[in-house]
Amino acid sequence: MKFYDVVVVGGGPAGCYTAKVAAEAGVRVLVLERDPEIGVPVRCAEAVDEEGLREFLDPDPKWAVNRIEAVAFFAPDGTRVDINIAGMAGYVLDRRSFDKEIARLAGDAGAEIWTGASAVGPIVEGGKVAGVRVHRRGCAEEVQARLVVGADGVESRVGRWAGLRTTCQLKDMETCAQYLMGGISLDQNRIYMYFGREVAPGGYAWVFPKGNDVANVGLGISGEFAREHPPWEYLKAFVEERFPSAYVLGATGGGVPCSGGVRRMVADGMLLVGDAAHQANPVDGGGIIPALKAARIAGRVAAEAVLDGDTSARRLRDYEKRWEDELGRVHRMAYRIKEAIYKLSDDDFNHIARRMNELPPEDRTLGKAFQLALLRHPGLLFELPKILFQIGIRR
Ligand SMILES: Cc1cc2nc3c(=O)[nH]c(=O)nc-3n(C[C@H](O)[C@H](O)[C@H](O)COP(=O)(O)OP(=O)(O)OC[C@H]3O[C@@H](n4cnc5c(N)ncnc54)[C@H](O)[C@@H]3O)c2cc1C
Repeated sequence: MKFYDVVVVGGGPAGCYTAKVAAEAGVRVLVLERDPEIGVPVRCAEAVDEEGLREFLDPDPKWAVNRIEAVAFFAPDGTRVDINIAGMAGYVLDRRSFDKEIARLAGDAGAEIWTGASAVGPIVEGGKVAGVRVHRRGCAEEVQARLVVGADGVESRVGRWAGLRTTCQLKDMETCAQYLMGGISLDQNRIYMYFGREVAPGGYAWVFPKGNDVANVGLGISGEFAREHPPWEYLKAFVEERFPSAYVLGATGGGVPCSGGVRRMVADGMLLVGDAAHQANPVDGGGIIPALKAARIAGRVAAEAVLDGDTSARRLRDYEKRWEDELGRVHRMAYRIKEAIYKLSDDDFNHIARRMNELPPEDRTLGKAFQLALLRHPGLLFELPKILFQIGIRR
């Protein structure tokens, strides 16, 4: 049986960045990735904000393929609002290359990476997870670990091995469908977001250009609505209406857990990071940067706990606490904003869009749009200043 200090299940951004940070701190790390190739298949619209990205990497054209400098929102009646995002640029990534870049950082820091290696169950000793049973290219293996990190994404099973509650309520699971399309001749440095019950109930549709008139065109709807009509039905209608002459180069789908975070992220000998811990932003479903931020903390705490010889849940709570301070609290506030936004009717959206367009262009900020949205919900009004301050959108 092989032995590592930390075994990370999942070779996405959360898993590989946790591995990088832990390996740099001097502990022996193994990453297990089920798929044969890191970064493939892509289940993502690939947009990130520049400020968040730069905390981890300088954008490289090999994987930061298109810079975004503007955002357009469309209300259900078609009213377009160009949002002023001055000083808040972003990128559309190529996740196939980006995820490999994060994995390369982990490998260079000394982590071992096994691809085509599925974690199929825990090794339990004294009631505590003490390793992982692995299927790798047709062979069964066992790997012992002082600490197991569950970075196994939205369908996470690892947490359940230790009794952690990782199930996402249907209403909080954004169920997504996306085409990679050619022939999308829009401004290539702008992203486009579309709202409305007919377009994407409990979510939104997006067009995220990647350059050369190629774009990720997709939508996410709340799981509640997906029971009646799958997201593919909405996507087909959206594309037929708005981009009849565009063509499909690929298709992908998946879920984003937008619950604002699982209650418990640690157990004896285990912690969860990234989508496995529901760390995506509950308002827009963006999970890449939050996963990296959580991984930075997780990797440090994992290494410190191993080096201290104490990987108990009690010791690992430090990770929960540091996450709470960095983003957890903000995400729970953002969750309440999401709830308010999703209660808005199409008429509310149309009204907000018209009000926004009455403002001078420089005042058409995201903060202003949220303010107008929350003003339609007087129940939340008294909390507005606190919420806006906490999520940093008082612009
Ligand atoms: C359609 C769609 C569009 C999205 N668009 C955006 C966007 O534009 N911007 C953004 O920031 N976020 C977006 N997201 C969310 C984003 O993709 C995730 O939040 C992000 O990938 C989370 O990273 P992660 O490492 O936690 O999980 P993942 O990237 O899902 O990685 C988990 C890895 O674990 C592996 N794995 C699972 N089980 C096992 C096992 N038993 N053994 C071994 N390996 C296993 C999987 O193969 C996978 O590689 C989108 C999601 C979807 C579905």
